[in-house]
Amino acid sequence: MPDVVFTVDQARSMRDQAVPGHNRWHPDIPPAVTVKPGQSIRVECREWTDGQIGNNDSANDVRDVDLSGAHMLSGPIYVEGAEPGDLLVVDILDLGPVPQEVGEAPGQGWGYTGIFAKANGGGFLTDYFPDAYKAIWDFSGQKCTSRHIPGVEFTGITHPGLFGTAPSPELLARWNARERALIATDPDRIPALALPPLEDSVLGGTATGETLAAIGRDGARTVPARENGGNHDIKNFTRGSRVFYPVHVPGALFSGGDLHFSQGDGEITFCGAIEMGGFIDFHVDLIKGGMETYGVTTNPILMPGNVEPRYSEFITFIGIGVDHETDTQLYNDATHERRHVPAEIRLFRAAGLSAARRRADRGPGERRRRHPQCLLLAVLADGDLRLRHHPLGLGTSVSGQGVVRGLVVAAAIVSRLII
Ligand code: ZN
Repeated sequence: MPDVVFTVDQARSMRDQAVPGHNRWHPDIPPAVTVKPGQSIRVECREWTDGQIGNNDSANDVRDVDLSGAHMLSGPIYVEGAEPGDLLVVDILDLGPVPQEVGEAPGQGWGYTGIFAKANGGGFLTDYFPDAYKAIWDFSGQKCTSRHIPGVEFTGITHPGLFGTAPSPELLARWNARERALIATDPDRIPALALPPLEDSVLGGTATGETLAAIGRDGARTVPARENGGNHDIKNFTRGSRVFYPVHVPGALFSGGDLHFSQGDGEITFCGAIEMGGFIDFHVDLIKGGMETYGVTTNPILMPGNVEPRYSEFITFIGIGVDHETDTQLYNDATHERRHVPAEIRLFRAAGLSAARRRADRGPGERRRRHPQCLLLAVLADGDLRLRHHPLGLGTSVSGQGVVRGLVVAAAIVSRLII
């Protein structure tokens, strides 16, 4: 059995736990626990917003979510003997929702998918879906169903959205400099190009006083992935996966959370996973000097696990580099990755999600707002977003495909097309 090294009481905020976690990346966040190389450990996690999203039928909590306190992470875990230049070897042994509990926190028997509003969070498709939407999913083993997307049963691939090691002071300074430079190119953009450090809502584990103030002033926000790992959101980062994280500070200071019941490739609505709290079991080890030995300096390496639902039927959408809203030809542009989602949505509607459509149509709003259920499904169904650049670099196209699979509706779609 793994040793439970970080516990969470799901009835309380992360701020009120016996040992609180943190929501910034900073080398001075005190370790919550010390473990040894070769040890198997269990880490309990809060859902990434620290429980702001409720099991109800309104998306107002997604619309109004306070992102200043996200992501809420468990840790840091100090690994004995880890030194800068080493590789931290992390094997995922198991993970899942909160075991043996039902309750009000995401992960206690249920999770949610959110489409974040353009004005708060944003996403890949806010030009088409600017408003907030939500679907609640009820868990049953590896499967889940949603009262907000009737007729659909989804098989998940559980994985953590976010884990990583702490940055060194020098690396943190580089992050802040380059992200501020990016923001300066378009400081008023909505959604923002990047999020600078923010003192509001900072949580630095057990840090207090000047240490906590410094974490608020300089600590990196948790949204992007960086050289330490971070918010990688890879759907196959599941049981059986092995990750090699660069170590930038003594003890590695390993942290994370943002557990997902499942997601497609890319969280294209900002929160396109099925979000939950829960537990994750790791085996941790070290490769001394591994960063130089294996040349792993800027990007952690992931070996995906073998655990994946087996699908016998799926369909793909062939992408073309054209924006059909304006009938504009594009050059080597990934627009088709946005364009195939509306194509998916049209197909879902044609193939049996009409009940969802009618329900959605009842409310006022422009035409493009009418089909959030189909989008909520599309973001999960995107099993593979594949790019295929033209090999000669000629012409104007990047071809690609979005794959729909893993759904009981997939069979209905296929049979409908055959008929
Ligand atoms: Zn997430």
